[in-house]
Amino acid sequence: MSTDFEQQGAGFIPALSQPTAALPAPSSWQTAVVERVTVETYRARTFTLRLAEPRPFRAGQHYDVRLTAPDGYQAQRSYSIASAPSDSLDVIDLTVELIPDGEVSPYFHEVVQPGDELEVRGPIGGPFTWTPEMGGPLLLIAGGSGIVPLRSILAHRGDVAPSLPALLLYSVRTLEDVIYRDWLDTLPERTSASSTLYTLTRRQPVGWRGYGRRVDPAMLDDCLSSLAELGGHRRTGQAPLCYVCGPTGFVEAAADALLAVGVPEETIKTERFGPTS
Ligand SMILES: Cc1cc2nc3c(=O)[nH]c(=O)nc-3n(C[C@H](O)[C@H](O)[C@H](O)COP(=O)(O)OP(=O)(O)OC[C@H]3O[C@@H](n4cnc5c(N)ncnc54)[C@H](O)[C@@H]3O)c2cc1C
Repeated sequence: MSTDFEQQGAGFIPALSQPTAALPAPSSWQTAVVERVTVETYRARTFTLRLAEPRPFRAGQHYDVRLTAPDGYQAQRSYSIASAPSDSLDVIDLTVELIPDGEVSPYFHEVVQPGDELEVRGPIGGPFTWTPEMGGPLLLIAGGSGIVPLRSILAHRGDVAPSLPALLLYSVRTLEDVIYRDWLDTLPERTSASSTLYTLTRRQPVGWRGYGRRVDPAMLDDCLSSLAELGGHRRTGQAPLCYVCGPTGFVEAAADALLAVGVPEETIKTERFGPTS
């Protein structure tokens, strides 16, 4: 058992390695070792974790992470799985966006290094998931770090249903805020019938040809037409499965806009990450 009680950075300590006799239930805590830290943007990092007890999961699910301070104080937050179930079960990626005045995300950014141990629990979450049996087409709408579970869905779709039409609308403040940009931009080369559209709400580079405003019904109407073109069928065809994820205000505005353009409520799944940013 490793017992490093040395206080670090934001005041939390690495998890204890807990010997596990039997396979734990998905809701029990386990230890994960940080294998790699990848800088995604100036405020987003991906932590590749090797799980002591790998668990089957669905694209869209999340893990809880629990940090413990030397005085026993604990803080717990949820982080979506960025990797796909078809990638690996024993190694998962979590991407954490830095909230500068936050309690847990600065610890990830300032303290957590490869080789550290973290206490995690999961996979968790049911409604905001996608499995191949659910089909599509898929309209994925992300705001900021809301891209994380949608990356898992896109990656899984690429592995198991690469011709299923999928369109991602990704809203960020500036181009520098786009997480997984290289991966997203090369997605159409790796799978057919997929496309990513960006909307940059604060600053657009010179010559920018994407959207430059907050998500609204007209934008979603365009997306629905583009998605129908990707699938080679007319707009009147099958309603897409819509997944919306991001800050609370973003999710509510995007879901309202979907309803305004006639998308049936029962085809819209939402996941809220926190306050409007
Ligand atoms: C199901 C689920 C999945 C999630 N997945 C991810 C993920 O994949 N990646 C990720 O980075 N985050 C994710 N989150 C958000 C994450 O759980 C934390 O809320 C976030 O990291 C902030 O925690 P913190 O301790 O740093 O900030 P806190 O100490 O909790 O909050 C500090 C301040 O920031 C505000 N705040 C909190 N969260 C946010 C936010 N998301 N946006 C803007 N302001 C906020 C608070 O109101 C407060 O003012 C997810 C949340 C849920 C519920």
